[in-house]
Parts: sequence; structure tokens; C-alpha cells
Amino acid sequence: MSNISIVGGGFAGLWAAMSAAAERDRLGISPNDLTIDLISNTPDLVMRPRLYEGAKPDMRVPLRPLLDTIKVQFDLATVVGVRPSENLIDLSELSSGRSLRYDRLILASGSHMPTLPIPGAANGFSIDTFSQAEKLDNFLEGLSRHNGRDLNGVTIVVVGASFTGIELVTELRQRLGTKVRLVLLDHAEHVGSDLGANLNPVILNALSECDIDIRLGEKITSAGENSLLLEGGEVIAAAAVVFATGLRASPLTAAFNAETDPAGRLLVNEFLGLEKEAAVFIAGDVARAMADDDHATFMSCQHATELGRYAGYNAVQSLTGGPLRPYRQESYATCLDLGPAGAVFTTGWDREVQKTGSEGKSIKRQINQEWIYPPKPSVGTKAIFQAVSLTQSSQAA
Ligand SMILES: Cc1cc2nc3c(=O)[nH]c(=O)nc-3n(C[C@H](O)[C@H](O)[C@H](O)COP(=O)(O)OP(=O)(O)OC[C@H]3O[C@@H](n4cnc5c(N)ncnc54)[C@H](O)[C@@H]3O)c2cc1C
Repeated sequence: MSNISIVGGGFAGLWAAMSAAAERDRLGISPNDLTIDLISNTPDLVMRPRLYEGAKPDMRVPLRPLLDTIKVQFDLATVVGVRPSENLIDLSELSSGRSLRYDRLILASGSHMPTLPIPGAANGFSIDTFSQAEKLDNFLEGLSRHNGRDLNGVTIVVVGASFTGIELVTELRQRLGTKVRLVLLDHAEHVGSDLGANLNPVILNALSECDIDIRLGEKITSAGENSLLLEGGEVIAAAAVVFATGLRASPLTAAFNAETDPAGRLLVNEFLGLEKEAAVFIAGDVARAMADDDHATFMSCQHATELGRYAGYNAVQSLTGGPLRPYRQESYATCLDLGPAGAVFTTGWDREVQKTGSEGKSIKRQINQEWIYPPKPSVGTKAIFQAVSLTQSSQAA
């Protein structure tokens, strides 16, 4: 009997589990002979890309029913360490303190937004996790209850003028109405500086349409409960400060003696492995893989699910002596929500604008409400395997 252990129940981990189970099934291997375990510290797949909309019940998809259907075991536990030289995963004391042995490991423990290293940063909000988004929702509801719809004189600052910050600040205009003052602040000199030149004019138009105050080239020195202090001495009074200041790969990456990029992602080879660790595959936000000859993956849902599919497939192949499949994902698309100004949909690595306004918004809705969701357990094993199997989809293509 052999075993594949997957750490992380996000997009990469869940798609890795479905893909590995599909390949196990295709090869006619019994789930008793090849067990697949998914270990995660939350019972749900959290739809992180949607959290700017507020924390809603359908943004948590329970893992167990889907995993039960495809005969993958689920362990609700926190992994505190990996010992690759012994093929061991260490669970936290609260999760029994056990060590689990693996034959193949898929690390898919994702990312988190580190707290800014400034005094008072903990006073701020974020939308990094479901509970943090819920906390912000509760605060905003309290604010509206207290002030009625009249939020005149109330200021909310969103720190971080990139993808998440832009989606959040424009969505807040939609949610809170026209009276509240919304500020988007960044130390960079440009809005969405990492999103490329094509998107820039669309974003600037939308921010203007949504009446967002943009403060660029500003460095925060400290945050109070109701204020931000900027370098240079200016104080911005704010009912709330929400940080959207970028993601960092899970600290479990440190278990491997391998090169990482500035976001802490492990540099993986074409099979999503590490040169010195034949039993390990890496997927999702913990991996920096080459999607084609010139472009590395981003911390994104579309890359996480596909990396997961390849990692699951390759883990099974490497156990059964079959050929591994090099990861390749040449097409790339982006859809950025712009609140009342609609959304912008782009294709290609240079993000060529294809749709804006309400047309862009309807694509964004489809992505958020349908495309990024896993198959429902009720569709049955065959349909789930068909939806995720690397072999079946590439044969069909
Ligand atoms: C606010 C926000 C908006 C975003 N918007 C977009 C967007 O519009 N489009 C897009 O493509 N991407 C977006 N992203 C990025 C996208 O959500 C991530 O790229 C994606 O979630 C990565 O999937 P993952 O499975 O690698 O990691 P995650 O989704 O982070 O999942 C990791 C899983 O591992 C678990 N885990 C972590 N550590 C441990 C441990 N030690 N022990 C056990 N379990 C552990 C976590 O609980 C989680 O279940 C957004 C992210 C955020 C935060």
C-alpha cells in the first residue's frame, strides 16, 4: 500500500486531490492500495478571490462531501512541519501531535497577507481570510447602523493599490453608497503598477467614476484605531483602515532546502517537483512555476487549480513508474471587478483589454459564481473525474 499526502485544502490542494483520484481510477488502482489524504486546517475551500464582496455563506465550500465521493481521506489538522529526509509531516499538538508518513507529498499550503511591520498595524482590517472579511463586514454594518445611510464625514482607507485593493475600494463604493470618503493609498507611484500599462487607463477611469481619493507615493509610519500617520507627519483620520498589501507563501516552504522567489514561493521544475526531493510536488501559491517559456505563474486561482491538477497527476505517475507530464498553461486571462464601474476582462500576459463595464461585469460574475467552484459531489465520481482529469481533458482538446 502506498500513500499521497496533500497539505492544504485550497484551490491547489483540492484540485490535486481530484486529479490524483482521477488518475488512480484511470489506472485501475484501488483506493485501498493507493490512499490519498488531504490535510487542511479549515474544513472548507474558501473562495478567497470573492472575499472583497464580503463574507457570504456560499464562499465556503465544505471539503468532506466532495472528498468522500472520490475516496480521498480528509484530516482536519494543522501541519507545523515537514521532514523531507524522513518523509514525515508533523501535526500540531492541538491536532494530536502525530507525525504522518508519506510516499508522495503535495505541498499546497497557499499564502497569507503578512501584517505590515509598523506600529498599530493590528488595528487595521483585511480580507485575507473568511473570518477577517467577516470582521470587516460586521464593522461596516455597525457603522451603517450607527450613522444610517448618511456616512458623510466618514473616511475609510484601503492600503494597497493593486488587484485586491482596487476590487475592494470600488466594491465599498457599491456597498456603502456615495457619501463615505474612500481613499486608496499606496507607497508606489502608480495604481496597479504590477498589472501593466493596458489596464491602467481603465482602472483610473473607474476610480474616478467611483469617486475614490488616490494617494500615491505615501509611506505609512503607524496606524492608530482611527487614524494613519504618514511619513512627513500627515495624519489621516479614518473610521477603518483595510490592508491589502500583498501575499506571501506559506512558511511550510522553509522545510525544503530549495530556492525561493521574493514572495517565498519555491522554484519548481517543469514537473512541479524540487530537484533534490523526488517524493515532493509543489502546487498553488507556494510554487513559482514557468507557465510557458517566458512567463512564471502568479499567485492566482487559475494557476493554483491547474498546478494542482498537474501535481496530483504527477504524484500518481511517479509512484506507479509512469511518465510525468510537464506543466504548461499558456493562456492567461484577468478579470478585475470595478464595483459600480463594472469590471475589466483582459486576455494574454500583456492584459489586452477585451471587455469593460457591464460586459466585463457579467464575465466577472460568471467567474466568481461558477467557474472557480469545484464540481458538486452530487454529480458523481465519473463527472468529477471527467472535469479534472488531465488525461481526459487533454485527449478531448
Ligand atoms: C482577497 C483576495 C482576492 C483575490 N482575488 C483573486 C482573483 O480575483 N483572481 C485570482 O485568480 N486570484 C485571486 N486571489 C488569489 C487566490 O485566492 C490564490 O491564488 C489562491 O487562493 C491560491 O490557492 P492555494 O490553494 O494555493 O492557496 P490557498 O487558497 O491559500 O489555500 C491554502 C490552504 O491550505 C491551508 N493551510 C495553510 N497552512 C496550513 C497548515 N500549516 N496546515 C494545514 N493547512 C494549512 C489553508 O487553510 C487553505 O485551506 C485573491 C486572494 C485574496 C486573498
